[in-house]
Amino acid sequence: MTVTTKRAFNFNAGPSALPLEVLQKAQAELVDFKGTGMSVMELSHRSAEFEGVHNEAIANLRELYDIPENYEVLFLQGGASLQFSMIPMNFLKEGQKASYIQTGAWSEKAFAEAKLFGTPVEAASSKSNNYKNIPALSEIQIDEEAAYLHLTSNNTIFGTQWKTFPTTGDLPLIADMSSDILSKKIDVSNFAMIYAGAQKNLGPSGVTVVIIRKEFLEKANSNIPTMLKYATHSKNNSLYNTPPTFGIYMLGEVLKWVKAEGGLEAIEQRNEEKAKYIYDVIDNSNGFYYGHATEDSRSLMNITFRVADEELEKKFLAEAKTAGFVGLNGHRSVGGCRASTYNAVPLETCKALADFMVKFQQDNQ
Ligand SMILES: *Cc1c(COP(=O)(O)O)cnc(C)c1O
Repeated sequence: MTVTTKRAFNFNAGPSALPLEVLQKAQAELVDFKGTGMSVMELSHRSAEFEGVHNEAIANLRELYDIPENYEVLFLQGGASLQFSMIPMNFLKEGQKASYIQTGAWSEKAFAEAKLFGTPVEAASSKSNNYKNIPALSEIQIDEEAAYLHLTSNNTIFGTQWKTFPTTGDLPLIADMSSDILSKKIDVSNFAMIYAGAQKNLGPSGVTVVIIRKEFLEKANSNIPTMLKYATHSKNNSLYNTPPTFGIYMLGEVLKWVKAEGGLEAIEQRNEEKAKYIYDVIDNSNGFYYGHATEDSRSLMNITFRVADEELEKKFLAEAKTAGFVGLNGHRSVGGCRASTYNAVPLETCKALADFMVKFQQDNQ
């Protein structure tokens, strides 16, 4: 390209930054996808070309996460929010209990949906601590009779993240990984199901990824609407109806990018480095800045913090905006500041924010 592309310091919480290389490839292929004379958006979802895109994305996700054979990878719609409903609709029988660990606003929403289908029970909660921490594994009540145990692996709004997941034995573990999927290695076999809206770490909004164990899927209720059954999508390779083809193409390109960057180990290492820049500034600020999350529960994806002086906080956000930083306002329910440092946010962008924070403190204390 002849013109230099202006790229923002994008800390949006979701939809969020996408890798520049992926955007440029999509741009180059936009009007003529691989010699078809059509955009990928104009292809039939039943064509060999699109099926190639679709199956390659599934294969690459399997490879990156080392997903065992007895798991299905599904591409659904309706966001992570529809999963809040589909999970109890499929897996809760009337009068049956399901366990939920409450670690923030998204967990609460999942819990509320389950009430429509059965009896959700709190297995642990950090609500009384304003969701500043992830409950200790020893606090979690494992109820073998529950249909499943649900948790949110990364709390996008409060900025906390699970470091070690509970071992639940025969109790199926389900995780909402919307905001930290593919940010580090995990052992998929520990989970009966993982789900994530794409718009934080995987691609544009419009696709929801579900990774589900076949034996668990087979236990689902059958008397529910066709489109809301996991079995419908698993039987049809997620092509029962028209899928969000462009979103799946973009997801596929993001997965190739993760592979090219060195896979999940390299991504995890970089994510740690990125977050460290910003947490170090907070920790070395003598209380000028302070974090929302307790140190042992800090998220590498969403860094929530405050400027101790409220007037200065307003000034900080205003000056950061003028300096070209996007998306730093905390969620309306928490306030303060939040820097979302997802996979596609470059190291340099995080360093630029850290430098800006240091300078702002020097100029204002
Ligand atoms: C963003 C987010 C959601 C909501 O996702 P939608 O795709 O908008 O429904 C759910 N859970 C978590 C953890 C999130 O970060």
